[in-house]
Amino acid sequence: MSKFRTLDDLGDIAGKVALVRVDLNLPMQEGRASDVTRVEAAMPTILELADKGAKVLLLAHFGRPAGKRYSTMSTSMVQGDVERVLNREIMFIPEVSGPVVEQSIGILGNGDIGLMDNVRFWPGEEANDPDFARAIAAHGDFYVNDAFSAAHRAHATTEGLAHFLPAYAGRAMEAELKALDAALGNPEQPVAAVVGGAKVSSKLDVLTNLVGKVQHLIIGGGMANTFLAAKGIDVGKSLCEHDLADTARRILDEAGHAGCTVHLPYDVVVAKEFAANPASLRTCNVHEVEADEMILDVGPLAVEALADVLKTCRTLVWNGPLGAFETEPFDAATVALARTAAALTQDGSLVSVAGGGDTVAALAHAGAKDDFTFVSTAGGAFLEWMEGKELPGVAALVK
Ligand code: ADP
Ligand code: MG
Repeated sequence: MSKFRTLDDLGDIAGKVALVRVDLNLPMQEGRASDVTRVEAAMPTILELADKGAKVLLLAHFGRPAGKRYSTMSTSMVQGDVERVLNREIMFIPEVSGPVVEQSIGILGNGDIGLMDNVRFWPGEEANDPDFARAIAAHGDFYVNDAFSAAHRAHATTEGLAHFLPAYAGRAMEAELKALDAALGNPEQPVAAVVGGAKVSSKLDVLTNLVGKVQHLIIGGGMANTFLAAKGIDVGKSLCEHDLADTARRILDEAGHAGCTVHLPYDVVVAKEFAANPASLRTCNVHEVEADEMILDVGPLAVEALADVLKTCRTLVWNGPLGAFETEPFDAATVALARTAAALTQDGSLVSVAGGGDTVAALAHAGAKDDFTFVSTAGGAFLEWMEGKELPGVAALVK
């Protein structure tokens, strides 16, 4: 893994000003955050810096104001939530640079925390304008990035600041980078990847990257249908991207050359209508899907075989559910395989890393989330990492 500075590399920071990029883009309901996971993730970094006597200035985006000020997108909207989670009072600063910030820093005591306004109120943020980054950097002694979820963006506060100040990974960023490295950077072999979800088109780059890196590629969800169809199997009314048949065949070829075994379901759960426990529900071999049926989940025999594959592996990386898990009983394969992975992880035989919006929800639904080695909530950044891309916010932290 590339070496990057962490909070362990900081010397005496008492009285120093820390500019800390965090993810406070909280989902809101009636003026209050409905989920404060992101604040909880940033808490260790914020409190560690504060408790070492730094003046901690938080930088974050909130919504998509696209370079203009909107009172509804001010980070002051989440000030109360942040205070509640941290159990500290924080000072709201309605700017990110200039005299107001300077005065605020004068008022803050050592160990105090300030929350600056939405960095995306200024066009320089998303444009990664060096003048904008320089103006913010002028207030700080060092920069800490604890927002992995925004690290796939080269913005002023996710990347630009690192050019003007000594840059450090916060604790959440550090944990994420270590987990991702253990999963795909430098994993214990054999490695299995589960790629599921709706469409091949949204995960082409993920599949292409993985075939060169893992020994077992388990394809489920709607995207398995595209691969089955590409192999000449009639998938009936299933969600399927027939125009990607050539692409799917190319991926299968590449996997063959790379020594990667691709696992497609050989039995499936089908129905004529997409509803909870429909009358037409049945399980069949992939070759027996009727023209008016849809494949909505991987079948039980295939799941058992996949569990056996996981038992031979040391590392698992998982993105995308195996079936339409939001609707019963099409959650069965995802739930069963997630529980197997969780149990193997708890036994110490598997390092399991998962990510993706629906994947996190599916693992939580299976009661398996807390038993995985690491579950990333970083959405876009996690996918780009699975695509093998260098994330600008991470690259900027490399020593
Ligand atoms: P993630 O958010 O974890 O990256 P995706 O967004 O790619 O995952 O895919 C999740 C969606 O895929 C879910 O809404 C699920 O219902 C859907 N899905 C999975 N399998 C099927 C299937 N066989 N047919 C239709 N939709 C499916
Ligand atoms: Mg999704």
